Amino acid sequence: MKLFTIGPVQMFPETLDIRAQQIPYFRTTEFSQMMLKTDLLLKKVAGTGPESKVIYLTASGTAAMEATVMNCFSSEDKVLVIAGGTFGQRFAEICRVHEIPSESIVLKFGEILTREVLEKYNDQGFTGMLVNLHETSTGQLYDIGIISEFCKRNGLYLIVDAISTFLCDEFYMDEWGIDVTILSSQKGFCLAPGLSMIVLNGKIIREKVLPKKVKSMYFNFNDYLCNIARGQTPFTPAVGILIELHDMLNRLESDGLSNRLNKIKAISSAFRNRVVELPASLPGFPLSNALTPVIFDEEIALSVFERLKNEFDVFVNPTGGAMGTRIIRVAHIGNNSIEDHLELIDLIKKVL
Ligand SMILES: *Cc1c(COP(=O)(O)O)cnc(C)c1O
Repeated sequence: MKLFTIGPVQMFPETLDIRAQQIPYFRTTEFSQMMLKTDLLLKKVAGTGPESKVIYLTASGTAAMEATVMNCFSSEDKVLVIAGGTFGQRFAEICRVHEIPSESIVLKFGEILTREVLEKYNDQGFTGMLVNLHETSTGQLYDIGIISEFCKRNGLYLIVDAISTFLCDEFYMDEWGIDVTILSSQKGFCLAPGLSMIVLNGKIIREKVLPKKVKSMYFNFNDYLCNIARGQTPFTPAVGILIELHDMLNRLESDGLSNRLNKIKAISSAFRNRVVELPASLPGFPLSNALTPVIFDEEIALSVFERLKNEFDVFVNPTGGAMGTRIIRVAHIGNNSIEDHLELIDLIKKVL
């Protein structure tokens, strides 16, 4: 089996070795020490200072999105959602379920989030923004510069779901004025699914999280904040994935984050340069290094997906929604080389 999917991804041998080991008991000083070290390294790669705190949730990324909304906003807020695809729509749905007043900026497929689009929402009493920085369903990577500037000018808390851009593209939480960063194990981290992390800066902890009366026990961040100070979580964490995470962050620390990012960038450009050989094109909007949407001239995307899977045991991401019949999405993260990606181009030619 070979995965060119955005998550789970083709995992690295070191991670697979860890997965084969016995999972240890975790209410120990040894486990706490590992967690505190993980926490330090995670904040470093996120570009945030020691005042920020991380919530480690045993849940998929959507739960982290929902928990963040529940802990950071109330009916007194007015939230602006960038709804440029299914993940943006999910944020809007979460606001609806939790009765948080919100408005969505709906982008059609191919429409770029520009300064002009945002400007229409100046001075309208918004208190926060929810954005999936890389809208994985379409592949558009939004311009954090204009988002950050808009939020600063209007005094909005900026909540960024960075799940599919983190460790794939550069990311500087503090420099970009991001108050909350949402992360998940199965995308850029290249780990098993089931662990999500929410990085909160000191400001949003003081002003929103601590005063909020959350109508949930499992998702109450205050409990997690108390526990993580000593390297623990209130409930059984995803112990195995946390060990994978510790190993991955240690290896990023010794290999250098920029080397990892450069490798993914080199793979994505090598792949994109070859897409011209297919009866297909690339979108006109900015892309993440993580993922390339391949737009076929004809409605063959689902059959390409099925035939790669059934005939070669090779997986790419199919695409939901109206463009689903024309787009496959190819991820460039995980343990695949440039050669693997060039072979994928040849395989796609074969199934055509
Ligand atoms: C993958 C992903 C999520 C999380 O989805 P789950 O299926 O709940 O893990 C959230 N946001 C974005 C942008 C994603 O790419």
